[in-house]
Amino acid sequence: MGRKFTIASTAVVTAILVSAFWIFAYNIAVAPGASDGKVTASGQKVTIDPNAQPPVTIAEGVTVGPAGLALPVAGIKSAQLSDTYTQARAGGARLHDAIDIMAPEGTPVVASASGTVEKLFFSQGGGGITAYIRSPDRRWIYYYAHLQGYAPGLAEGQQVRRGQLIGGVGHTGNANPGGPHLHFAIHRMQPGEKWYQGSAINPFPLLAGKKASG
Ligand SMILES: [Zn+2]
Repeated sequence: MGRKFTIASTAVVTAILVSAFWIFAYNIAVAPGASDGKVTASGQKVTIDPNAQPPVTIAEGVTVGPAGLALPVAGIKSAQLSDTYTQARAGGARLHDAIDIMAPEGTPVVASASGTVEKLFFSQGGGGITAYIRSPDRRWIYYYAHLQGYAPGLAEGQQVRRGQLIGGVGHTGNANPGGPHLHFAIHRMQPGEKWYQGSAINPFPLLAGKKASG
């Protein structure tokens, strides 16, 4: 009797999870160009500034680059990227080791590749609201910083799919409030390395399909 009940419950939960994924990944509404949008949950939809332009589904706004990575900011095309990987940072000695993708505050940030959310934390004075997502083979970490906030329900340990909403573009941490952007990095991980370790590779050629400029 108890066993039968357990099996039935599992089936129901699976059905709910599957439909939830579809709603989450493909029924997200976005108003492109919204200048002061906020990522807000509205029923089962996530909307960005509902008073702006008519919403489009996020699937239309996500571009997949030549290496199979999704451009992590909805609505941004490869040609709009610039290679800021080797830009010097304040102090001169440190390089950027990431690219900045400029977009209005609140523009949806999506997972560039599938993986597991390994760490979500606020990096004071640096990355601000950040997400570290590790590839299933554990060899890569995709790092998203200066987020305005996280997608509703995003949690450490969660599996995310390429193109899934993870947050909104912002300027948290040390980003200029006048220039909201996604700071996006890819780190190659050695076995046993923690989320804050690894060595950066340039995401620009992978997303843009062009040679690095540096
Ligand atoms: Zn940056």
